[in-house]
Amino acid sequence: MPFTAPWIVHFPGAEIATVTLAFAWGATVGSFINVVVHRLPRGESPVSGRSHCPKCGSAIRARDNVPVLGWLLLRGRCRDCDAAISPRYPLVEAACGALTAAVAAAELVGGGRWLPLLADASGRGIDRLLLLGDWPLLISCGLHAAILMTMLAWSLLAVECGSLACRGSAAAIVGVILVVVVTPLAGPVGVLPDGGSWPPSSPPWPTLVASVAGVALGAVAGRLTGGVVDGCCLALLGAALGWQAVVVVTVGTSAIRWVTTAVGAASNRRPHPGAPGIPAIVTAAAVQILCWHPILTAWRHVIRFMGGS
Ligand SMILES: [Zn+2]
Repeated sequence: MPFTAPWIVHFPGAEIATVTLAFAWGATVGSFINVVVHRLPRGESPVSGRSHCPKCGSAIRARDNVPVLGWLLLRGRCRDCDAAISPRYPLVEAACGALTAAVAAAELVGGGRWLPLLADASGRGIDRLLLLGDWPLLISCGLHAAILMTMLAWSLLAVECGSLACRGSAAAIVGVILVVVVTPLAGPVGVLPDGGSWPPSSPPWPTLVASVAGVALGAVAGRLTGGVVDGCCLALLGAALGWQAVVVVTVGTSAIRWVTTAVGAASNRRPHPGAPGIPAIVTAAAVQILCWHPILTAWRHVIRFMGGS
């Protein structure tokens, strides 16, 4: 019989605490992404050496390095030389925090009800997560947040370098495939799910096939759209969510880019150089957080309809 703890189920503010911690974790990763994006194009190591003010060179103190808050308390200026610090840094930290908090709210607080293979966990509350160690749910949440933040990092590198260079994309994709093969419930559903064996009954092979198919379709979709939707972002998504998500994100991103290009042309404004990745991140976040389960349920109905059952 599973261990239950009513005092934890009704622990006041457990959900808010979980989402707040997720925001803090995401903002901290965002702070590291700022360092990576600043240093990589300059040929510097992102992991060695303390952060310093680019104008006066003085090391940034630990208390000033707190994500978002550090910039706000300094009012956007260096403590030593008063040089302005770009608002991009706290914005990236806040964006990463918000993406992670949104994924945590949907997947952890929601008990996995938006996830296709973990739908049975809904309604059990946050206690299941904290006391029983619901690893597929935790890994799924971490994986999905990490993918969105990786896409954001690639987009920011595009701002620095002028073209969308997906640094370490092969390593990231292989890493995602390994994670979903080890924890199949956190991964994509089958390539062609049918009513009788959905979710796949004998992991890890169906998961591996579904993940590799997602990568392949992502790379192909990137080429077919002529780079309008970035191939390595789609391949990374496909590795975690499968080919169905690649189709939805490709269509969604193309639509957003079509509208923004039309609006930009009407107002005579040139698109921002970092723009390629932003619509994909928005669409991918929406798919992961809101529509992942409905998309796959709809697909299952299509398959059943085509199979005549
Ligand atoms: Zn300074």
